[in-house]
Amino acid sequence: MTDILQQDIQYLPGVGPSRKKMLNEELGISCYGDLLQYYPYKHVDRSRLYSISELTGDMPFVQVKGHILSFETFKMSARKERVVAHFTDGSGKVMDLTWFNGGKYAKQNYTIGKEYIVFGRPNVYNGRINVTHPDMDAAEKLDCVPHSDQPVRELSTMGMQPYYNTSEKMKKSGLNSRSVERLTKTLLDVLKTPLPETLPPFITEKLHLMSRDDALRKIHYPQNARELEQARVRLKFEELFYVQLNILRYASDQRRKYRGYVFSKVGDYFNGFYRDNLPFELTNAQKRVIREIRKDMGSGRQMNRLLQGDVGSGKTLVALMSMLIALDNGYQACIMAPTEILAEQHLQTIMDFLRGMDIRVALLTGIVKGKKRQEILDGLLDGTVQILIGTHAVIEDTVQFARLGMVVVDEQHRFGVAQRAKLWNKSTNPPHVLVMTATPIPRTLAMTLYGDLDVSVIDELPPGRKPIVTQHVFDRSLPSLYDSIRNQIHQGRQVYIVFPLIEESEKIDLKNLEDGFQVLTQVFPEFRLSKVHGKMKPADKEAEMQKFVSGETQILVATTVIEVGVNVPNASVMVILEAQRFGLSQLHQLRGRVGRGADQSYCILVTGFQLATETRKRIDIMCETNDGFRIAEADLKLRGPGDLEGTQQSGMAFDLKIADIARDGQLVQMARDEASAIIEDDPTCTSERYAVLWRRLKELRKTNINWGAIS
Ligand code: ADP
Ligand code: MG
Repeated sequence: MTDILQQDIQYLPGVGPSRKKMLNEELGISCYGDLLQYYPYKHVDRSRLYSISELTGDMPFVQVKGHILSFETFKMSARKERVVAHFTDGSGKVMDLTWFNGGKYAKQNYTIGKEYIVFGRPNVYNGRINVTHPDMDAAEKLDCVPHSDQPVRELSTMGMQPYYNTSEKMKKSGLNSRSVERLTKTLLDVLKTPLPETLPPFITEKLHLMSRDDALRKIHYPQNARELEQARVRLKFEELFYVQLNILRYASDQRRKYRGYVFSKVGDYFNGFYRDNLPFELTNAQKRVIREIRKDMGSGRQMNRLLQGDVGSGKTLVALMSMLIALDNGYQACIMAPTEILAEQHLQTIMDFLRGMDIRVALLTGIVKGKKRQEILDGLLDGTVQILIGTHAVIEDTVQFARLGMVVVDEQHRFGVAQRAKLWNKSTNPPHVLVMTATPIPRTLAMTLYGDLDVSVIDELPPGRKPIVTQHVFDRSLPSLYDSIRNQIHQGRQVYIVFPLIEESEKIDLKNLEDGFQVLTQVFPEFRLSKVHGKMKPADKEAEMQKFVSGETQILVATTVIEVGVNVPNASVMVILEAQRFGLSQLHQLRGRVGRGADQSYCILVTGFQLATETRKRIDIMCETNDGFRIAEADLKLRGPGDLEGTQQSGMAFDLKIADIARDGQLVQMARDEASAIIEDDPTCTSERYAVLWRRLKELRKTNINWGAIS
């Protein structure tokens, strides 16, 4: 289909080769459609004129019509001057327009006595209303309809003026928001015939959505706030809807293509473990989730399940028991961890749990080499290795299984749809997949990022855990913090002290850690300290960590390498230095390292005295709640989904232009509902009734690299 929206942007009147280049490089705009979808970041109501007597110092942007009485120039320094224009609306009242920069230009270009519409944010200076760096338009220019031969119209029908983001470079070459505005106006004139509708009438009618043509025009030039809102809703819904349709189509495709292994038997491994090895009663949440998993695995459908549960909620045990079901049915199982330390810890935990049972468990990571590695690979191929524990390397490698029936992926962050798809190619039938995440993902994000997965939630912690007490202290009160640490250690507890490590400045951070470690050894001469960081050799790291685990050292000084993994129930204090440098979910993960034993645990967030508002909010939320879901919601709101770790490689569309997963939760749900009803009704995507949709989806998949990645 040759579409006018594909038309090269240089054919648009007002765009020459140099502007084309600029638009291309700075905004990624290369065709009409790109410009059409370059939505304004805000609008300003141009429909109302104010008189000077109405203005106060706390108003948003306003506009006043009037003329300049005189200019005045004030020397500020040898080279700088301030230019003030005295401006009246004819009522006898006067306000000031001030330029700290570009005053000379103003004096040359604005004519005394001529009618202007002045636009800006008023403030009060020296008892007078003042607007600094106002936008000025000749009144007669604004009063007429641009690009048309219609007669002058009333300003009050002008509606809302769009504002577009432009880069510094663009502004320097004169391509500012106003210029982009002229371009979008021209574009909408050029697009005379209505743009084709991309949603079927049964949806637009049911949800009272504006037509696509209307929406794409009104998103730039609405008459009023209500119209703008309607246009936004329509465009957001459409974006979210196609994302959902894409995910659900994919999931339903996979379901039709692949049958799952039927694990109908619950046998000696599972039952024996339950009877003889389970060291404690399962929580109700664990029981429920295990039931859900058993049902999936017995259904003949391949399981694709996301297991969400806060840190310490006992996901490992659920994973292990699910793997035992695979074993009971004569299959192998595999668990993948994001780091070697965590893989090793899983090995430890699982070996402990399985003590006395005749099950062959093996660990395969990058450091397992030579003969040992070959033995394991052989064991996997002949089926004698029943449970494999490893890092993600096991899916990339040439690792072959005899009968892989179940895969557990721990910590989903770096493991999106595309990676999961690889598993499915490992055997004729894809194994059942359980993805575990300790960072609870807000529902709306889960629907988008892991939209093809069913979700189980462990929403209950094992009994007897005392909520962790979180406190914020300023770094000037470190001495008294050291005293309480000393106190805790004297009571037999252990302590983590975490230094931030951010990749870009790794060298500095490491030096920070080394220096900090020196200081701490002097502060605590009576205790023994361990130190670990990501740059250490795995063996050294392991050895240091082991000293802390065994209780030989009382304080573990670390970077965020301990974020995932480590389980030391006796550690009751987590001190996070320069806490302002950590994101919310990272703070929450770190906090989850304590509170694993029976003792009251503490998390101390240390920061400098000056805090940015956002930081303040993060710290406050941490002190307020231990609830991982609340923290994840807040995190999503504060940062937006684009910044969330892993979303870029997720293989799902996150280049949303207008919708916001965090703030448009309701629309995500609506889009999901509509999309899933359609997939259910037309699983093969062939019905004439939905032809518009399938055609549009195909188009989108062609132009969107992310979307293509999961086909
Ligand atoms: P997660 O991986 O969800 O963060 P873990 O699986 O590491 O949590 O479990 C945290 C701790 O709780 C482990 O020491 C585990 O043995 C213990 N645990 C798990 N389930 C229970 C339970 N039902 N009762 C008591 N302790 C439990
Ligand atoms: Mg875990």
